[in-house]
Amino acid sequence: MAIEVVTRDFEVALQIPETDPAGMSETQRRDALSSVRRAEARLAGWRVRLINAERDQLGKGAAEMAARDELQVSKREAKREVETAASLTGLAETWKALESGEIPQKHAWLIAKASWEGPIDEAVLAEAAKHEPYDQFARTVRKEQREHSEDDGQSILDKQCKNRTGRFFESREDGMFVLSGEFDPITGNRLALAISDKERELWREEDPKNRRTPQQRVADALAELILEPKSGQRPRTALLVIADYDMVHRELVNARLCDGTPIPMGELRRLACDADILPGVFRAKTQKLWLGRKRRIATEAQRAALALRDKGCIGCDANPAWCQAHHIQPWSWGGPTNLDNLVLVCARCHHNIHDDGWQVIKCPDSGRYELHQPPDPFPDAGVDAHRPPQRNPVLLN
Ligand SMILES: [Zn+2]
Repeated sequence: MAIEVVTRDFEVALQIPETDPAGMSETQRRDALSSVRRAEARLAGWRVRLINAERDQLGKGAAEMAARDELQVSKREAKREVETAASLTGLAETWKALESGEIPQKHAWLIAKASWEGPIDEAVLAEAAKHEPYDQFARTVRKEQREHSEDDGQSILDKQCKNRTGRFFESREDGMFVLSGEFDPITGNRLALAISDKERELWREEDPKNRRTPQQRVADALAELILEPKSGQRPRTALLVIADYDMVHRELVNARLCDGTPIPMGELRRLACDADILPGVFRAKTQKLWLGRKRRIATEAQRAALALRDKGCIGCDANPAWCQAHHIQPWSWGGPTNLDNLVLVCARCHHNIHDDGWQVIKCPDSGRYELHQPPDPFPDAGVDAHRPPQRNPVLLN
């Protein structure tokens, strides 16, 4: 069932099985999918070789032109192709793993990008790339970069600040206006807080019978924040910063955002001056983190404690700013608004819980909360798992 990559003279040809996937078993389809991944990686390895030879013999500009003409990519992508291909020559292990189909192309590109940004341990990353899905691997790369950075993360943050970019243009295809931007993690987290806060406000004002899609709501939140800023009222952008207290030197050390992104101490002092930090020190007695049945909606302090514990959506790792506090035992069935009955979930995973029966499980080993898909009621029958015909609106909290 595997895809064969066949070369005739200089031409690469693919032999794709003629079997109808509908008639294959689940195991066969999974094997076939994994063979697609290996074939794509091997093709990417061959492409790298071709582009590098073009660049070595005719120069960078000619290689970019060849990529643009023959691969039909944009100018920007052609430039990136040539740069990435060149950097792979210095990353022998990654290149070898790519050419043998062991690591996917996107993973190899990420290793190449990280190698421009600073020192990395290539062997560790190439090994992780063999089995980690892309989003998990991207986190591994970031962690690896932090471990090899020679200061407390200041140089990484400086580079990220320098690479910030914003674009606003009218799409030629459909006349829609597109707004996009890339930001350093500190600015990005503050933007996420401001936008998600506005989004929650819009959600509360909506007619529950006639809701916008989450995407429409985010678009409206952005437009309102830009076009109708409320006079004198700044949007909420208080960051949750976690730090350790060094008892000996009586100072804060090892400051980080709740996803683990380190904050250089210089940056922390600057943020502290703006009073934009929510202290990550919780005194259970004074902060009232155990509300029982007194209150249904989680408080700001509880949300901060949840962000600290869950780090983001327990189902998909989405940023805490986009998450809602979900009652594991529903409020309507007597569930209390206490930390051990609350988890952070994003809107999509919240839907999975309420509409599709996904379950919150506390992992006995790690103590972390996880989201589990309900078991398939018709295993091996070739029938898709049962889905209720209607989606019900999800309750916030
Ligand atoms: Zn999620």
